[in-house]
Amino acid sequence: MSSSIRDLPVILWDPSGGLAEQDCACADVQPSPEVYWASGLETSEDDCACAEPQIRPILERQNDPAALWQAHREQYRAPLTQGYQAVFNSLGPAGVVVVNQQALVALDSYRQALPIGDAVSRQFADLGLLRPTGATPHPIFPHPETLTAWLHVTNACNLRCTYCYVTKAAEAMDEATGLAAVDAVVRSAKRNGFKAIKLKYAGGEATLNFRLIRLLHGYAQEQAAAHGLGLHEVILSNGVYLTPAMLDFVRDSGMRLMISLDDVGAEADAQRVFSNGRNSAPQVARNVDRALTHGIKPYLSITITRHNADRVAAAVAFALDRELLFNLNFYRDHGFGSDRGAFVAEDAQLIAGGRAALRVIEERLPRQSLITALLDRSNFAVPHDRPCGAGHSYLVIDHHGRVATCQMEIERSVTDVMAEDPLEVIRQHTAHFSNPSVEEKEGCRDCQWRYWCAGGCPLLTQRVTGRSIAQSPYCNVYKALFPELLRLEGLRLLKWHALPVA
Ligand code: SF4
Ligand code: SF4
Repeated sequence: MSSSIRDLPVILWDPSGGLAEQDCACADVQPSPEVYWASGLETSEDDCACAEPQIRPILERQNDPAALWQAHREQYRAPLTQGYQAVFNSLGPAGVVVVNQQALVALDSYRQALPIGDAVSRQFADLGLLRPTGATPHPIFPHPETLTAWLHVTNACNLRCTYCYVTKAAEAMDEATGLAAVDAVVRSAKRNGFKAIKLKYAGGEATLNFRLIRLLHGYAQEQAAAHGLGLHEVILSNGVYLTPAMLDFVRDSGMRLMISLDDVGAEADAQRVFSNGRNSAPQVARNVDRALTHGIKPYLSITITRHNADRVAAAVAFALDRELLFNLNFYRDHGFGSDRGAFVAEDAQLIAGGRAALRVIEERLPRQSLITALLDRSNFAVPHDRPCGAGHSYLVIDHHGRVATCQMEIERSVTDVMAEDPLEVIRQHTAHFSNPSVEEKEGCRDCQWRYWCAGGCPLLTQRVTGRSIAQSPYCNVYKALFPELLRLEGLRLLKWHALPVA
């Protein structure tokens, strides 16, 4: 996928047309309006079925040159440096846009209805910062193009993470089940009009059944090509056991690699531990560096509980030092015998830890945008109405071939891979929980962040509040951190916009 920098358009507009140099002292030329934004953002990997970044809303447009336009009212703004401001229209589609003072004056002139007058106002209209007077500011969410499937290739694991939701056993998916699982995913993809499939090789610890991953990769390539489907693959690993041969395979096959790493350093309050209680973080950190030497940039998944919330900045610094994309997952209660209070951080602790992480990011503003998946299930790359594909475009297939709605529901299967269309069964099954549009969620439907947060994990909300249409239990944390995240994206754009094309 392309990087944000390569795709970064820069619009400079000079209404004066420029002045030739002469031997007199020229009249001062007013600075030109400048507008910067990023497109084609790369999305990080996590353990959920993310909203698809390629979905673009189609905002209502008028081609009539006499039509009148106005600025969107739902705009978030944050001052940056040197007079620049970050502007964010919560109805999309452009994400964060950085403007200088002159461009801001041009934008603010549209507080009253005006026709599109020049190249800058046309640019604002294209970015969705202006809308035709009277048009309904409502994004359209097309049908997802990718069917995502979690393949639970083993139920065994070499770690005993304190918050894990998998009831582990020394059982692996066999070859026949794996092939049937790929067939089922392809069948459901074709029947339901998807253009691509995405296989997430997971567990347990997926690398403990690497032989099956190799085999399923070859079979999935054949089947996807035979049925005209795109194929994306990622291995979700705890990073403990990654041999050079595995890493060469990951690189050469074009798969992605996601590694879970919640903390760094031997002194970390270990929540990802071996069966003898030893902290796995130092070994995993070495394997992240080993992956880098093999030409692989793993995506880091950092789960935040009350035990590491105060240290999350250290893990963020580790990722930034290596120019890795990462996701901060807020702990999701799985309801299988765990004591929720033992892991859930208080809002204040999460906000403080999140702010410390954002400060580290501000000190080392990365080239790559982090807003696609930095804060829990939010995604600021593209407006979306659901936080994930659970119940709609996602299959979770366990090592016996049983199919569930979400990996956290893996022990409550709904159908199996022999069903003619497992996805249809999943879509019809709403007894355990549903994944409603954010517009159906009470308390979310008028929130300015609704198309970027989409209400958070619906399963967590259901388990904590008893209702899937309630706000996320992490709502207050999101609302505290989202504005700061957008300001940082503005600073990042400002820092890197002048880069030469890579
Ligand atoms: S969970 Fe909170 S922040 Fe997210 S959309 Fe709902 S009200 Fe807004
Ligand atoms: S329901 Fe929650 S845990 Fe399951 S895929 Fe969606 S966001 Fe992830």
